Amino acid sequence: MKNDLSKFLQAISFAAKKHSTQKRKGADEQPYVNHVLEVANLLANVGEIEDYDVLIAAVLHDTVEDTETSAEEITNLFGATVSSYVAEVTDDKSLPKATRKQLQIEHAPHLSNGAKYIKLGDKISNIRDITENPPAGWSDQRRLEYIIWGERVINGLRGVNANLENHFDDLIEKARRKFQ
Ligand code: NDP
Ligand code: ZN
Repeated sequence: MKNDLSKFLQAISFAAKKHSTQKRKGADEQPYVNHVLEVANLLANVGEIEDYDVLIAAVLHDTVEDTETSAEEITNLFGATVSSYVAEVTDDKSLPKATRKQLQIEHAPHLSNGAKYIKLGDKISNIRDITENPPAGWSDQRRLEYIIWGERVINGLRGVNANLENHFDDLIEKARRKFQ
């Protein structure tokens, strides 16, 4: 029987392999896995979350959406709870992008608390990147639109973790000051 730490390390190794060919969209082209590690780090060290199923799901949160990974693979390796958190934060890529973005807003209030923590970490990481290290070619207008949308998603899930929500609010304030 694996303990929590060894399962967590297994998840990091799994995510690093699955995302190995992917880079973030910022000018410095960081390895994609940096983002999922940052999300897990935010949950543990800002959110003070100690639930390993949530931390493992944070590390795996973009594998099903962005790599050749099935929900069954996650269930078999990391269990049904982890797999259900990942499923909750996985967009259906067969839908048009505008629909996916609208559905994130509509689904946010109905997520489990574990999935809400991961959404908070994900939006903090992405909005920090949008502010400091944006995708190439994004105008200020596009950056601001992303920030406004991210805030709408997060406004639908508040009341679960004051540390993460305050961190998010500080970031949004800085980002808005920069682009408005
Ligand atoms: P994308 O979905 O194309 O890109 C953002 C996503 O890319 C993030 O959610 C993140 O997802 C991932 N990502 C990877 N690297 C980075 C990085 N360095 N910084 C930030 N995110 C990164 O964005 P949208 O198409 O949703 O565009 C954002 C907004 O802009 C929308 O509101 C849209 O309406 C608007 N828009 C404006 C246009 C314009 O020209 N004015 C044109 C098109 C859209 P993950 O966590 O999964 O990695
Ligand atoms: Zn993500």
